[in-house]
Amino acid sequence: MNLLQFEIKVKEYSDKSEMPENDRDLLDKAVDATATAYAPYSTFNVGAAVRLAGGKIFTGSNQENSAYPSGICAERVAIFAASSQQPGEAIEAIAIAAQTDSFELLNPVTPCGSCRQVMAEYQNLSGKPIRVIMKGMTKKIWVVDGVEDLLPLMFHADRLKNR
Ligand SMILES: [Zn+2]
Repeated sequence: MNLLQFEIKVKEYSDKSEMPENDRDLLDKAVDATATAYAPYSTFNVGAAVRLAGGKIFTGSNQENSAYPSGICAERVAIFAASSQQPGEAIEAIAIAAQTDSFELLNPVTPCGSCRQVMAEYQNLSGKPIRVIMKGMTKKIWVVDGVEDLLPLMFHADRLKNR
């Protein structure tokens, strides 16, 4: 038996002023997008902003539904908007922010498993890493330089081989 261990790397910034300007702007757009969330059930507003390789930015927010599974996360709203309007263009970065009055949020918000898998799909498609920038309600920010740091051993259809 071998024990395989995988290392993930997360950069932590104590304030957005430490970040590069274009990522700071993207994060501001994600924070702004929290105001457009439709989240009457969770009262957890999430905003996301995606920057494509050509510089275009698409934003999204979580959209909930009384039939729970019909809702969708902010990250996927933004990613699917970007991919449907600029198909095939690589995603350079996605910023995610959250806002809620219902509870304390001490750490940056991190994407759910489904959104991680969707990010993995587009990263694998372009072959270029997607930087993920995460913020909660404090000044603290977490950044990973590729989806593999959020989803080690990710499912990747290209790795399946026919015999
Ligand atoms: Zn999600």
